Amino acid sequence: MAGPPGPDGDERRHQGREQPSGVEPATPPGRVDAQGAGCLVDRRVITEASRPFWTGGAQRQLLILWCAACELWVHPPRETCPGCDGALVPRAASGRGRVFTFTVNRHAYNPAVPVPYVIAIVELEEQPGLRFITNIVGCDPEAVRIGLPVQVDFEPAGEAWAPVFRPAEPAGSGEAAE
Ligand SMILES: [Zn+2]
Repeated sequence: MAGPPGPDGDERRHQGREQPSGVEPATPPGRVDAQGAGCLVDRRVITEASRPFWTGGAQRQLLILWCAACELWVHPPRETCPGCDGALVPRAASGRGRVFTFTVNRHAYNPAVPVPYVIAIVELEEQPGLRFITNIVGCDPEAVRIGLPVQVDFEPAGEAWAPVFRPAEPAGSGEAAE
């Protein structure tokens, strides 16, 4: 009666194991499951280079790698400066930026994360092209638009703090000032 194992059986054997992606770091310092925070990523690996970015929120700082020689902000995190191959140090960015582009997700991929929520690419004011994928929180998803001024906030996610963004407070008369 026992037939050959079907694909279901094979799949089941792999559940609970690491996916055979072959990209595991040699010594993962910590794998974070974001439970309801940082909706975007529910599994991520913190590397030595990316640790400041993921943990700076504990001091409410958005830490981005910076090259003192080139005065270049560098993100995603990497070991050395793409401009001069020099050392990079974490530096606190202002946390201010604008929505570069976004989408509203209405499908509950993760039951722990209520929908709808906004996945966006935010460009920081420090440097053209200094962008990363994040969530926009603290407002009606329908109110998000391209170019919206935003301010960083942080949501706890295990040992990490996921940088997310809220609409910036209107600074008196200053929103249109550049
Ligand atoms: Zn450099």
